Amino acid sequence: MNLKFLGGAREVGRSGVLLDTGTEKILMDYGIKIVSQAEGPLQEPKIPLKVNLNLDGLLLSHAHLDHSGFVPNLYHRGYRGPTYSTATTFDLSRILLKDSIKLANLRNQEKHFFSKDLKIMEENEYRVTYGQYFYIGRVGIGVYDAGHIPGSVTFHLDTGKKTIVYSGDIKLKDTELLKGLEPIRERTDVLMMESTYGEREHPDREKQERELVGDIKATLENNGVALLPSFAVGRAQEILLILEKFGLINKYPVYLDGMSIDATKVILRYPELIRNPQALEKIFKTITKVHNNRQRDKIINEPSIVVTTSGMLNGGPIVHYLEKLYQNEKCSLILTGFQVPGSAGRTLLDTGKYITETDNFKVKCKIRFIDLSAHAGRNELFKYVRMIDPEKILVMHGDECEKFAGELREMGYDAYAPSIGEVVEI
Ligand SMILES: [Zn+2]
Ligand SMILES: [Zn+2]
Repeated sequence: MNLKFLGGAREVGRSGVLLDTGTEKILMDYGIKIVSQAEGPLQEPKIPLKVNLNLDGLLLSHAHLDHSGFVPNLYHRGYRGPTYSTATTFDLSRILLKDSIKLANLRNQEKHFFSKDLKIMEENEYRVTYGQYFYIGRVGIGVYDAGHIPGSVTFHLDTGKKTIVYSGDIKLKDTELLKGLEPIRERTDVLMMESTYGEREHPDREKQERELVGDIKATLENNGVALLPSFAVGRAQEILLILEKFGLINKYPVYLDGMSIDATKVILRYPELIRNPQALEKIFKTITKVHNNRQRDKIINEPSIVVTTSGMLNGGPIVHYLEKLYQNEKCSLILTGFQVPGSAGRTLLDTGKYITETDNFKVKCKIRFIDLSAHAGRNELFKYVRMIDPEKILVMHGDECEKFAGELREMGYDAYAPSIGEVVEI
């Protein structure tokens, strides 16, 4: 029995792991790695290693494109087997996948799948819920809440010989939007875990929220616009809930722009998954939704709070806002999510410059980074390992997987960070 790492190994992005039990072949996630245009001419998203279509099933951990972004390619190539995930994940993925087709068209990039493939994927959806247990062949699979974004799953697999956990992306602590993950009580032989923050600790969350609110207030009192580029799924809603918590929603004009609008609608369709659906519902009704450039140009004439996509500045309405406001020192640009190396957001944080295929300018707005991460921090990851207490740990989904695996070895665990293409016998 073995695990083949198709992507997301010693990197963040294009997650994909194939379990081959000798009888069943089960793929876990099949994502893409978003690469910015900062380092030169147009770059295609990086894709996982090609997988044979002779699969018994695909387990999708959550909607983010680094996990879901290449799933439709399987259907494009002729796969007609099931994909298992939560209804929320399927609905959110559809928004993000449609957008990635639109983006590929816009950028004249090679297309690896089309709208009709999303349709075929939809026909092969198998919706599962937290607490459910199902089978692919003889492999029993448990579905656990991963606490990362609405609908996110950690899968527990029992092949009869080995028990395996595929963590997906995880968060242990509660946020405003979500409760932390649901602990796995079953015995686990092999743990495949994310390690995005393996080498860093998150600062105190409450303090970060206060800083965010302080920065926004200072900007507005100075007659500026506070731009909050955010991931559409999870982060935008988390920010809205923080704004509400500190009384900003009714005090100032708040705008929601880009894919976050549809993502919020989907999330509100599954109120049982979030901590305070009534609050989010009320906020969503109160704030103004922005749909076009005419509206955008109008709202930035007055002090306002704009929550918009994309979270790493690689596209979406934030580009328009930046092009209009980059010379305005009164405005602020507040990043709140993980910025993948090479993304326009990371480049901006490192150099103060916004560089894409079409833009290259120094941003005079105040640039801030507030950590509102939906990933487990370093201490949470160690806690997770102790909680599951597996026999073997395979560290993935991080920039420093090997280092983190080394630390786990020092603690007495059998830990290893596979590289892309590697096959690990279990
Ligand atoms: Zn994620
Ligand atoms: Zn991820």
